[in-house]
Amino acid sequence: MCDHKFNFMMNFFSCVAYLLLLPALLATTPKEPWTSPPRWASLERYNDTITATELEKLLQTVYVPDGSWKSWITITPHAAFIEPYPGAAQRLQLSLAPSSDACKKVPRYWKTPQERSPLPGKPLAGLNIALDPGHLGGAWSKMEERWFRIGKTPPVEEGTMTFFEAQLIANRLRNLGATVQLTKNHLGPTTPLRPSQLHQATIDEFHEEGRTTWTHRQFQMMEEILFYRTAEIHYRAQRVNQELKPDLVICLHFDAEEWGNPKHPQLIDSNRLHILISGNFNGSELKKEDDRYIMLRKLLGQVHYEEVGIADAVSKAFEATTTLPPFTYHNPTKARPALAENPYLWNRNLLASRLMEAPVIFCEAYSMNDPLVFQRIQLGDYDGKRLIHGKKVPSIYREYAKAVTQGLVNYFGK
Ligand SMILES: [Zn+2]
Repeated sequence: MCDHKFNFMMNFFSCVAYLLLLPALLATTPKEPWTSPPRWASLERYNDTITATELEKLLQTVYVPDGSWKSWITITPHAAFIEPYPGAAQRLQLSLAPSSDACKKVPRYWKTPQERSPLPGKPLAGLNIALDPGHLGGAWSKMEERWFRIGKTPPVEEGTMTFFEAQLIANRLRNLGATVQLTKNHLGPTTPLRPSQLHQATIDEFHEEGRTTWTHRQFQMMEEILFYRTAEIHYRAQRVNQELKPDLVICLHFDAEEWGNPKHPQLIDSNRLHILISGNFNGSELKKEDDRYIMLRKLLGQVHYEEVGIADAVSKAFEATTTLPPFTYHNPTKARPALAENPYLWNRNLLASRLMEAPVIFCEAYSMNDPLVFQRIQLGDYDGKRLIHGKKVPSIYREYAKAVTQGLVNYFGK
């Protein structure tokens, strides 16, 4: 029964959890159908692109602030020595630039703002943006735990909402000169894999967790999670890196508080906003070879300052447009502040943002089961303003689109 599933899966409730790795989801064995083994030698392309000081700073303050990187990486003034896996015959040697002036150009497919020229009236000209609508949506919303309904009102489906939102934002950005691509062009999955093909991966997952017994229902649920979360995100990320090659990825989500039984959901005053960028890998995640490799690839691509700048601009535009208060994390193993003076920005280790090599900002806006937001979602998209709870408000979708668009114009249109 669905309700049992939802109760069991409460730990996966938050939108952000959608992209978090379960321990075995981090596994890197080639038999997993969504991943390939780390290509350590490919990191040699980053030779002399970063100084020892900057490498250590990014590791310690952004990517691995608990310091566990020291178990795998040794930094000297002229080279970093990286142990790819325990007992490896040879450590990878990454040569480091003697000074920031001596750094070679970082090899990457995305352009910095300095590498493009806005046109008059087209502040986003030359910018290639990928929009990633979170979740599958449509008929898949119940399976992926992104569905609730009150009485006979239309159900709230986050994946359907983000897909609509992405199209709205895409139109606005194109009018401002940007090239915009979506990571999916229909509701539902993009990965060709389906749960029934993930039997062995599910067994491997349970073994990785140290579990030796499970019920039929637990097994089925794990197959589904590996499908709609792990396989789907890997597929989208692969498409971003190999085909779309954008200058920026914006992951679009609507946040929520835990709503309990999806057929009798709780409405809770909980409206808020936060924007996540990659970082804050912890020691247990770094024990996974695949995560170590991906973390280093992300770090050496030097997306961090770009991500902070874009996220800062977008959060300020959201704040001005929506007056949403910031969401605050209280557990540093989960997320840490990304910018001391901006309470909306957090470093968090999410699957999508670490796999995609371009700068990625991950927007978690509103709370779908906040009473006011719920009413706004029920109204759908509309022109102008409508009265809700004594307040005239625009369509929630247009407000979201306005905030994202204004933030990008403020950052890139300078
Ligand atoms: Zn979400």
